[in-house]
Amino acid sequence: MDLTKFFAKSPLIPAIIQEKRTNEVLMLAYMNEESLKKTLESGYTWFFSRSRNELWNKGATSGHFQKVVSITSDCDDDTLLILVEQTGPACHTGNHSCFYETGDIVKFDDTVPDKAENGEKALKTDDEALSDLYQVVLDRKATFTEGSYTCYLFEKGLDKILKKCGEECSEVLIAAKNLSSAADEARAKEAREDVKNEICDLLYHLTVLMAEQNIPLDDINQILKERSRKIGNLKKFHETDHSS
Ligand code: AMP
Ligand code: ZN
Ligand code: ZN
Ligand code: ZN
Repeated sequence: MDLTKFFAKSPLIPAIIQEKRTNEVLMLAYMNEESLKKTLESGYTWFFSRSRNELWNKGATSGHFQKVVSITSDCDDDTLLILVEQTGPACHTGNHSCFYETGDIVKFDDTVPDKAENGEKALKTDDEALSDLYQVVLDRKATFTEGSYTCYLFEKGLDKILKKCGEECSEVLIAAKNLSSAADEARAKEAREDVKNEICDLLYHLTVLMAEQNIPLDDINQILKERSRKIGNLKKFHETDHSS
């Protein structure tokens, strides 16, 4: 295996040491090419000490060795993640992990706006967008509104609604094909907007169909949830070791 690619940017790269048993991050140390070689040869971690300027076999004096389970590199091959079986504490202070001073430097409280939470809220708003649309469609079905396209569809009846669903579905397919064969970035950007809009057109017409056939949106959500629950179970089944 060619190890030089890991050291193309720097002769020393960080190695994150993670405990296989607990998933805990135990420590971070640096490796040069020679220490990585020694690690691969011995199956135990070797690092390069920046302060002592020498190779260092973790556990050589303390007896707290790290047996390597696997070594992976990150997306751009400049960091290693090493899964280990740790004997004794990984930290020279006697702590299991080097990262035990939780929030030592700073610990932000929850007064800081949570961007992830905003993201979640945005997602919830998107969920509501469909139910809001369905509510409007139901209102249109119940009350004739001058100039309303939705009312026009209900007046025309089921066959017209089905025809529109079919048309919009084809338009999604065509837009998706156009996106997949877009010649350049600019055209792809436009085509992606088309796909989104066609999907919205289709969803809208599907809600009209649901309203026409008295199918509540809740029923659809219920089935979708039930299905994802089953997929969740299936995933759990696959994650369990069935070999024994
Ligand atoms: P050891 O490799 O456990 O035998 O410890 C030898 C020396 O390596 C210690 O005296 C420390 O200077 C250093 N050392 C060991 N473990 C760590 C660690 N987790 N973080 C930083 N330095 C360490
Ligand atoms: Zn990445
Ligand atoms: Zn990287
Ligand atoms: Zn430490």
